[in-house]
Amino acid sequence: MIETEEKTKRVFTDKKDFPLSLIKEMFDDGDIIPQPDYQRDYVMDNKTASRLIESVLLNIPIPTVYLCEEIDGRFSIIDGQQRMTSFVRYLKNDFALKGLEELPEINGKKFNELDKSLQRTLKSCTLNSIILTKESQELKYEIFARLNQGSIRLKPQELRNCIYRGTFNNMLEDIAKSNKHLCELFLEKNKRKNYQEYILRFFALRNFTNYSSSMKKTMNNYMIKHQNADNNEIKELKTLFNGTIDIIKQVFGSTAFCAYDRQKSQFMNKFSGSVYDSIAIACSMFNHHDLMTHADEIRKQVNDMKMNNPTYQDYTYAATGSKNRVIGRIMMIYNLIKNIIGNENNHPRTYSKSTKEELWHNGYICPYCKQEILSIEDAEVDHIIPYSKGGQTIMENAQLLHRHCNREKNNADFESTDINEIELINKDENI
Ligand SMILES: [Zn+2]
Repeated sequence: MIETEEKTKRVFTDKKDFPLSLIKEMFDDGDIIPQPDYQRDYVMDNKTASRLIESVLLNIPIPTVYLCEEIDGRFSIIDGQQRMTSFVRYLKNDFALKGLEELPEINGKKFNELDKSLQRTLKSCTLNSIILTKESQELKYEIFARLNQGSIRLKPQELRNCIYRGTFNNMLEDIAKSNKHLCELFLEKNKRKNYQEYILRFFALRNFTNYSSSMKKTMNNYMIKHQNADNNEIKELKTLFNGTIDIIKQVFGSTAFCAYDRQKSQFMNKFSGSVYDSIAIACSMFNHHDLMTHADEIRKQVNDMKMNNPTYQDYTYAATGSKNRVIGRIMMIYNLIKNIIGNENNHPRTYSKSTKEELWHNGYICPYCKQEILSIEDAEVDHIIPYSKGGQTIMENAQLLHRHCNREKNNADFESTDINEIELINKDENI
């Protein structure tokens, strides 16, 4: 209750009317951060920009722009970049007006060639803006998702790209651009940040034993918690993802993430997000040498599972965000691979001290409570897939938790649904 009251009292959005002259100044001083990428794709041509200037002079309302207040007080543009930059470019005499029909007499004129009075009108004209304040950090996504139903219409990952800026987001951009296997394995071009979203999904679901049931929330929370991850962590995450993709490409080939079409009795030539997360996450728990030396058998059995196992088909077909299905499909692939390669070397139950030291870095976020672990003494090494459920004691299956959280998780694991029995659970759950 108290929490609800606090939420309703805080101000998450602010309305401001910025005069165009001030907007130009803010651009010049770096107080407004233009958005890269997606908005740059639609650069307004000079004729369209001219008509925008004309609208202002005719007092025709311009659609509201959406800004986001960053921690340092600067504003990033969520929506309205083209409009704002068009005004700024004109005030800077970057182009001459053209194609105006209502005010043809000013065609061909740059800003400094207009009558003084028109210059004043333009400079003092205001642009309505809605600002997401710093206080809205946790709710930013939700607020924008709602505003988004109007004029903006960004895809979820485009939205995340705006509101969770930082080192982790930069890493997603970097991987999406530089990993050469993605195009072949995702079977589509990177449009509107879908690669970035798939990459995020890998990280967000990797700690799947904690998965609640909303894919969207799980991904948002992951981005919030890792928004400003330090260099070491970024480097580790990047190596983990790229290494996993690389080995998958070699073990499974280009149809790794395709589902099987039961009606047509053939593999679909289309990427399946749920086939992807089950295979990518399961594979990330094994070392590459083991995967490679059993590649033929693993590929054969996984393809067989895609074709003939109704439970796996079900888990990857509908309501794929429900908890049972997420955990169920990853565990199915994990157990399949483990049965092929796992029995050769018996792993001990506990991790060594060196594993802990290898995993540790400053700013480590405990995946259980999502809070920072302050010192290595407070950390314990945990099996991502519990030992009791077949999780191996290898680096790939290790993470650090707070001492407290590790105990709590172990107790919860003991009480929670047995992952191996998950097939028996009622399947009517929705996302
Ligand atoms: Zn913790």
